[in-house]
Amino acid sequence: MAFRSEEIAAYHTPRMCSPVTHLLYADDTIIFLNGRVSSIRGCMEFLDRYCSCSGQRINTEKSSFLLHSKAPSNLVSSISHMTGYQRKSDVMVYLGAPIYDGRIRVRYFDDLLSKIRHKLAGWKANFLTQGGKLIMIRHVLSSMAIYLLSAVSVPTTVLQKVDRVISNFFWGSHEGKPKRKWVSWNAICKPVSEGGLGVRNVVEVMCSFRLKALWNAVTSKSVWSKFICAKYGIHNNILPSYTPPRTASKYWKECAMLLAVLVKNSAWKVGQGNMNFWYENWSNDGILAESHPEVTSYGNITLREAVGADFNINGLPSDCIPRVKYMYDSRLSSEMDVRLWASSPNGVFSIKSAFHQIRESAAICPFARFYWVDFIPKKLAVLFWRVLHNAVPVDVRIQNCAISLASACVCCGQRQIESLDHLLFQGNIATALWDHFAISFGLHREDFSDFRDFIWAWFHIAPVGSQLGSLASVLPLVIVWEIWSERNCRRHNAPPASIAFIRFKVLKWVHFINPLMKVDKHSPSSVHNILGRFGVPLTPVRRKPLMVLRWSAPPPGYFLLNTDGTSAGSLAAGGGVIRDNGGNIVAAFHSFYGPGTNNLAESRALLDGLLLCRQIGVSRIAVRVDSKLVASWFHYNYKIPWTILRWWNRIRDLAHCLDLVVGHVYRELNAPADAMASLGYYSRSDHIFLTDFPPRLVGLARLDRMGIPYIRNG
Ligand SMILES: [Zn+2]
Repeated sequence: MAFRSEEIAAYHTPRMCSPVTHLLYADDTIIFLNGRVSSIRGCMEFLDRYCSCSGQRINTEKSSFLLHSKAPSNLVSSISHMTGYQRKSDVMVYLGAPIYDGRIRVRYFDDLLSKIRHKLAGWKANFLTQGGKLIMIRHVLSSMAIYLLSAVSVPTTVLQKVDRVISNFFWGSHEGKPKRKWVSWNAICKPVSEGGLGVRNVVEVMCSFRLKALWNAVTSKSVWSKFICAKYGIHNNILPSYTPPRTASKYWKECAMLLAVLVKNSAWKVGQGNMNFWYENWSNDGILAESHPEVTSYGNITLREAVGADFNINGLPSDCIPRVKYMYDSRLSSEMDVRLWASSPNGVFSIKSAFHQIRESAAICPFARFYWVDFIPKKLAVLFWRVLHNAVPVDVRIQNCAISLASACVCCGQRQIESLDHLLFQGNIATALWDHFAISFGLHREDFSDFRDFIWAWFHIAPVGSQLGSLASVLPLVIVWEIWSERNCRRHNAPPASIAFIRFKVLKWVHFINPLMKVDKHSPSSVHNILGRFGVPLTPVRRKPLMVLRWSAPPPGYFLLNTDGTSAGSLAAGGGVIRDNGGNIVAAFHSFYGPGTNNLAESRALLDGLLLCRQIGVSRIAVRVDSKLVASWFHYNYKIPWTILRWWNRIRDLAHCLDLVVGHVYRELNAPADAMASLGYYSRSDHIFLTDFPPRLVGLARLDRMGIPYIRNG
């Protein structure tokens, strides 16, 4: 209001931008003003009036003003005089973020660093295992820095300092000095599947937040995004080739560097078609510029312009036009152009998926999937990870760091050289433990010359996820842990423990982990025998009761449609069967869909089933599917992923002219449809049967009619 009366002139904003006059958050307020005396006087009068009306007061101590660094000194003093506030010469803090003029300084972030240091000091690092520290780092530390990272451009030095503080905490300190870091922080900041420790890299996290800001600027209708788009000249149709103006803020330039990632991860609901024809994935079937690399100059033509020219456009070979037309016809359409985030099923941007799109993935560590599992305590996993990375300070490893040291292992009488292999595999403690435990699993240590091969064999005794497999991956980790603990005790001159006692400690671990693996009297006898031989008792586990399921006829007057989808090796197929009220087969089909997910297969199978019903003139249908998700989608209980929305639009159209009752059944009761889907998958073909039904289908339908029960585990 005060601004509209023109007694106060607003802060200058670029043409096309609506002026921003103030920001309010709780009791913090920023007012943007033109520096003219009349404006400032007007503003102060306005604030005085506000104070006298509301009874609120302004805290002069906490208020300040910020001017361009080269503002003339007489202006500074006159503003100071009029307002009674102090000038902040370089930086002020608003909602925890530094607001500054000129170059960014590392010291603006001292506060963040000291907060992190303070937090760490409170955790008493020396009482935590590395596993414990890892959990702290993953959950707490990274999130502390995130707020600032997401809001302002942070100098690289600051990011490096944050990393160093966290890494010092992880590796610990001795007499105030940080200990040696055996593995680089970059290697730690990788997912466990890639041989890291699952700590997120600060730079990659920051990039995800830049991408979020960019996404919001481009897609949202907020005041902020309108302002940013107007200020920096952003339009959807030029987005793929956009470069920010030279004068843009560092923050915005950082955002704009991620434009390629944004465009590559976009899908579209097409309305007016005002997006780039060549570089945007408007068909959700791929970017045209990528499938036509022979064309060199594409120009900034929009989809709408291309449609207007009936796709007779520069650069598109005429024999490609029919395919592009088909792509256009099968587009996902809506009233407005909507940019979708392609990596999430609902099309909504998420930091988590952005993070995965941004980071460069590295080679997979083959051991990771065996030992980074829930039931293995983190401290065991971290020690084993260090063993794999040769990051355990045995004598040989320390000598490698050019530190001279006379090596004498403490595990055997001969005082041999302590290498990792000796300590964990060849030494006296190691051989005694391995030989005792391995034999029950059918492994013989002497058959292996290499520690890694030996562990690899342990991990492959039984499938991952089976109880025997779990037991066989826990044991070596426990043994490594206990050898290392005993070695450290002996190094610190504790009296050596007997092998029998170390064995007892290993079994205590198994006993402790056992309930998490849910071994009970129903477990395989191999697991029983081994645990029995070790003397580890079983823990009672509650089981779900068995269910008896029988086929039931559809309501009178209705036909029964069962459909099912299947996918394997990223190929999808579907099938279904239509039966009458007495359970007799009327029609059946199978289809092959090519590349696709299980959800796509389930959805398309339902559509094909309904189309077949219409084709044979059946309109009252009880539909049964074994996908709870598909049933929920049909009943509007969940939002349908954009990737399969186009099939669902057709299902909805059909549902209008049919009388449908859709319900979910257990997989056991959907066996006939499942059999048809398998036929589609293995034959890689589409077929409709009205007579001569496949024998397997006929058999299954007969079992259903006879009321043969299916047994289901809970
Ligand atoms: Zn030894």
